[in-house]
Amino acid sequence: MFELPALPYSLDALAPHFSRETLEYHHGKHHAAYVAKLNELTKGSPLEKATIEEIIKKESGAIFNNAAQIWNHTFFWNCLTPQGGMPGGDLLTALNANFDSFDNFKTQFSNAAATLFGSGWAWLVARPGGKLEIVQESNAGNPMTKGAAPLLTCDVWEHAYYIDYRNARPKYIEAFWKLANWKWVETQWRSAKG
Ligand code: FE
Repeated sequence: MFELPALPYSLDALAPHFSRETLEYHHGKHHAAYVAKLNELTKGSPLEKATIEEIIKKESGAIFNNAAQIWNHTFFWNCLTPQGGMPGGDLLTALNANFDSFDNFKTQFSNAAATLFGSGWAWLVARPGGKLEIVQESNAGNPMTKGAAPLLTCDVWEHAYYIDYRNARPKYIEAFWKLANWKWVETQWRSAKG
């Protein structure tokens, strides 16, 4: 059985940027529904014993969609922290080197998140060799399927922002930056570099 990972903070922790009600729905209903659906789809098959990563790399269709949405959401929750903050050290050096400046990186990532048509995810990824890139993935898309290592993601499905920001996706993206967990991004960056 696949299980819904607990949030790494309380339901109130990200308020006022992301409200308790948003987290109740986004984690407790949407994320939970992907877990329930994957359990239903894999019941009695060998995939029951596979890891989410194995399923994402091998499967397609509804099984891929639900597994990738589980992984993407778990990763997304870890990309947020009530403390917020700024990147430092090697990560900041790499962001400056790849995007000219941290502000430029933020602008490009925000544009990718704001302009993604329909539902999906904006990602900061590391390519093999260490080059950093911003990519858009529609629906349940996950950059691991193309050999890139995810470092940071922003969920731009409407369910992520409609309770707090209605149709104003750019306002939600502004709030996302106040909550970005740079320690998490740094950890992903270090393991991607090897
Ligand atoms: Fe979501």
